[in-house]
Amino acid sequence: MTLPPFPMTGSCRCGATEIEAAMPPLLTAACHCRGCQKMSASAFSLTAMFPSEAFRVVQGTPVAGGAKGEDLAHYCCPECLTWMFTRISGVEAFVNVRPTMFADTSWFTPFIETWTAAKHPFAFVDAEHSFEHFPSMEEFGGLLEAYAAKG
Ligand SMILES: [Zn+2]
Ligand SMILES: [Zn+2]
Repeated sequence: MTLPPFPMTGSCRCGATEIEAAMPPLLTAACHCRGCQKMSASAFSLTAMFPSEAFRVVQGTPVAGGAKGEDLAHYCCPECLTWMFTRISGVEAFVNVRPTMFADTSWFTPFIETWTAAKHPFAFVDAEHSFEHFPSMEEFGGLLEAYAAKG
């Protein structure tokens, strides 16, 4: 993985909302769950998990979208409604950013894939680790270490 210079900058589909990430991601993933299929209007979603202190909205004021449930807050551009990032309730340490927002996406590969139980038969993801649902908290810690070890 060769990362572009930091901060990496990105924007929504219309350009009204801009984001940046100032450090490398902690983990990358593709998720095949039904919620992600609907949110992404595609076969799976892509995620780059950044430390919260490394991520910021540079321009625009993202609005809540998606399920608007208690567990997850999906943030979208108020103008074009592009789903840009997700915060998990009670988890302050990181934010899940849609890596396709970044100007340079060449560095991105999904290290893990989740929810293969809902995977479309044609949707092949070249991930190093596959999970039928989400990894457990114990597995998650090991995945963070394994991803960091890749450099
Ligand atoms: Zn937009
Ligand atoms: Zn999902």
